[in-house]
Amino acid sequence: MGLACAATALLGQSSVGPVFGYGDFTVEAKIESEFLAIPDAKLAGQHLKTLTAQPHLSATPEDRATAEYVAQKFRAAGLETEIVPYRVLLNRPLEQRVEAFDSTGRQLMSGPTKEHVDGDKFQDNPRVTMPFHGSSASGDVTGDVVYANYGRIEDFDQLASQHIDLHGKIVVVRYGNNFRGIKVYLAEQRGAVGVLIYSDPQDDGYYKGDPWPMGPWRPETGVQSGSVQNLSRYAGDPETPGVASTPDLPDSARLPADKTGNQPHIPSLPLSYHDAAPILRALAGPGAPQGWQGALPFRYHLGGSGGVRVHIVSKQDYALRTIWDVIGKVKGATAPDEWVVTGNHRDAWVYGAVDPSSGTATMLEAVHGVGGLLKQGWRPRRTMVFCSWDAEEQGLIGSTEWVEQNGEALRHAVAYFNVDVAVSGPDFSASAVPSLKQFVREVTRSVPSPLGATVYDQWKIQRTDGNPNRTSDAPENQGEVRMGDLGSGSDFTPFFQHVGVPSTDIGSGGPYGVYHSAFDNFDWFVQNADPHFVYLEQMARVLGLEAVRMADADVLPYDYVAYANSIGSYSATVKRKAQDAGMGGLDFGPLDAALGRFKAAAQKVHGLQVAPAGDLAKLNGALRQTEGAFMADEGLPNRPWYRHTVFAPGLYTGYAAVVIPGVSEAIDSRDQPLAKGQLEVLTRAVDRATAALNGAE
Ligand SMILES: [Zn+2]
Repeated sequence: MGLACAATALLGQSSVGPVFGYGDFTVEAKIESEFLAIPDAKLAGQHLKTLTAQPHLSATPEDRATAEYVAQKFRAAGLETEIVPYRVLLNRPLEQRVEAFDSTGRQLMSGPTKEHVDGDKFQDNPRVTMPFHGSSASGDVTGDVVYANYGRIEDFDQLASQHIDLHGKIVVVRYGNNFRGIKVYLAEQRGAVGVLIYSDPQDDGYYKGDPWPMGPWRPETGVQSGSVQNLSRYAGDPETPGVASTPDLPDSARLPADKTGNQPHIPSLPLSYHDAAPILRALAGPGAPQGWQGALPFRYHLGGSGGVRVHIVSKQDYALRTIWDVIGKVKGATAPDEWVVTGNHRDAWVYGAVDPSSGTATMLEAVHGVGGLLKQGWRPRRTMVFCSWDAEEQGLIGSTEWVEQNGEALRHAVAYFNVDVAVSGPDFSASAVPSLKQFVREVTRSVPSPLGATVYDQWKIQRTDGNPNRTSDAPENQGEVRMGDLGSGSDFTPFFQHVGVPSTDIGSGGPYGVYHSAFDNFDWFVQNADPHFVYLEQMARVLGLEAVRMADADVLPYDYVAYANSIGSYSATVKRKAQDAGMGGLDFGPLDAALGRFKAAAQKVHGLQVAPAGDLAKLNGALRQTEGAFMADEGLPNRPWYRHTVFAPGLYTGYAAVVIPGVSEAIDSRDQPLAKGQLEVLTRAVDRATAALNGAE
């Protein structure tokens, strides 16, 4: 209650000064202050409790029940709501076994051990599915063990340089540093027959702090489930890249199960360190490099032939299963074809209190706020769409299938605002397309923080530790808080990197060691993340305000000057990389010239945006087409589903963004003709974006 007053006071005092995208902000300021007063910490806590009462893995009855809960809240807010089903390929574990033996044949361990701590009241629910890897292969394999650290490309290269052959081996890697699907993909490429991925206590266990239930970190038997899709190839249903898996899609339109392009062919299992430790402890061979040593109480070794042998049995039940997105719409009053899309996934590996239910509670309270405005007679100028995605955890499936089905309408979408892990603590963070970074900063300046002042103020303090040299991502934003680029690992990927909708992703973080385990439950959340749900309320305000401000803007608040500066700095970095790789002959001249023209056009349009007048429909039309101009029809080399020429998930990182991916990765693979071709593709994309902006006058 106190916070709602603070919000109103905050907006009341701040002079209704210029807000990017608005000529006169007076009317909108009143709407926003009414919106900010509605999201409610207590209600958010109730949503969270309801959503996390049962495990709700995608395509289960409990998942369906959460879809109905969300649909009911959408309808209560006045949204035109439907539950949209897709029929997609999903696996469930039937049988999973791991056993290890030393060179004398003595058994070292047999598992997996069930997740267990003393005092957790959620762990014994019979509806908890055993931890598993989405998209993993079935198999019965035995091999000698090699330890490969995080399973990064440099880790595998290091093993190769030490002449440790992976053919026929079982690779043990730890979680962290890259997307788990990349670990399995690289192990398979190097000849491994199976992979075990475990959680080292150094990365999210006792080395960091007290484990659950004493503290927030991963306990001895805690296991991280997760998808091992190769997300960097494409997202979504493995059998239907580029095509929506509607319930009536004929099977003939699907790829055969053994011909999918984003699934591994070797089995992999997730493990706790309780189960991994006896294997690692017994490994002989060369000592692990210092950076490979984790926090288990013995020296790590690389293993190799003739040492520890592991037997893996994995039987996965693959089937076409029905999943449910929930889509709620408010039709725009003056620009109904311009969609402002907000989304969050709903499916969880187990209870998913943080991931994703904190995001769902956040979105439901944002929708509650929008519903409050609707009841007062407000109508947004643009159409608002709120989406509760299913099967995100298995490979961004619900969002990807919906984007593939609605590609035509999404050509007119003006933004996608994502939230996934909304709250695991008090530290706000955000990633965005460069054109929306300043927009996100402005929105956070309008939302109060439970710690006092605004979300923006607290974000800046925490991101800089008081050191002003640690701010700013571009020269024109000196002193601003730095924001990340969008890589992958959540539902913005199909919107941003497949169809070119400008996107943002927000969260509020803290110590969180129970990711994707049964211990990410309501009790953990209340003890460790947000006891009074005030950060859920804060995130509902930020997410909702992004949508409301974008939906009502006179002029789309995209900052293409910042975008031009970002591409300029990416280009300079990649140019240096080319020189370092001995590819100094690559001609960046045409790209630099194109970027100069793009920046000039952006500056001209920026002038029109700050003083909106005249033909705003034309200006907005031009702005709307600019992001799409960066998309290449043919897509990126070897991954045509990814079409953005400036941003993609790294081929070998998965979560992290790689910028100017076509050129950058061609240089990585020392392919000069490909790099030259990709420079031309990028240059043409920048020229298309310039032409789009020039259409504003
Ligand atoms: Zn998630």
